[in-house]
Amino acid sequence: MGTHIEATMSKILFLAVFSSVVLANGSSRAQQNSPGNSAPPAGVSLKVTILGSGGGPNVDLQRFGPSILVEAGNGDKLLFDCGRGFAQRLTEYGLSLGVIDKLFLTHLHSDHILSVPDLFLVGWSNGGRSTPLQVWGPMGTQHMMDSMANTFEFDIRARALLDDQRTKEGIRAAAKDIDEGVIYDRNGVKVTAFLVDHGPIKPAFGYRVDFNGRSVAMSGDTRFSENLIAYSQGVDVLIHESGNPVPPNLTGRERQERERIAAIHTMPAETAVVFNRVKPRLAVYAHGGGPQAMAEARKTYAGPLEDSEDLMTIEISDRIEVRRPHK
Ligand SMILES: [Zn+2]
Ligand SMILES: [Zn+2]
Repeated sequence: MGTHIEATMSKILFLAVFSSVVLANGSSRAQQNSPGNSAPPAGVSLKVTILGSGGGPNVDLQRFGPSILVEAGNGDKLLFDCGRGFAQRLTEYGLSLGVIDKLFLTHLHSDHILSVPDLFLVGWSNGGRSTPLQVWGPMGTQHMMDSMANTFEFDIRARALLDDQRTKEGIRAAAKDIDEGVIYDRNGVKVTAFLVDHGPIKPAFGYRVDFNGRSVAMSGDTRFSENLIAYSQGVDVLIHESGNPVPPNLTGRERQERERIAAIHTMPAETAVVFNRVKPRLAVYAHGGGPQAMAEARKTYAGPLEDSEDLMTIEISDRIEVRRPHK
């Protein structure tokens, strides 16, 4: 009973939150979010939801792991990365795990894939997915999905026994190790994978989604990448990671460790170079960012730039609208 009331209360609270809307032309106004109604409104070609805006293996209760949902105006739903807390955020957003059957992975660092088992198993057992989970990702993706089916063999068999309505197809993964290029082109929605530079983690991809003349590009994890700049030309929205510069007073092992991490990410000053050369209608930080990165980028980049938070949405049409849930 108590949990039911709590669940109801949190739902009411969530429905009652107000979000600010920032328009690409700079004006803004207050508007209520409507998380239960996730489909892009009429006229919106692409709706992007930052389900998890965080990054890195550390547990963060405010910013969950990397996970971005892109919904096209034709109803197509594409998920990019599936970090920790994906299932919780998708549920908060108002969607069942079962509606997601297309997953694109940037690379196989654990912070980007920790919730893949949740999507794979619960999307089928409780979400009602009756078709295979389609997964695109770098070399090793197919092997990972095969291993996952083996790891959870007990659960899969046990649940299949409990309910013969669950199809065998729904708990199959159709996974593909990809190369750079167009990897998905259906009903006007095109997904292009491009190589980024995540140091020794090779290959690592960024993705670009095009639909109805609108587009969004996502960097995945990368240090400064010329290839990303080339593939992102003309995009409406560029979602880019940012790493943390190493504080000058750090010494010893801690300094080495921080330098090692910084070397495979893009420093905020470098993201400003990327934004200036791509000139997106809106640049967004995810997987990093924060006030310091914003301030650093602002020294040399004057265009539209937003820091992200979990469940922030971006609607792309002739205008770009950003809605923030204030929790
Ligand atoms: Zn990462
Ligand atoms: Zn990484």
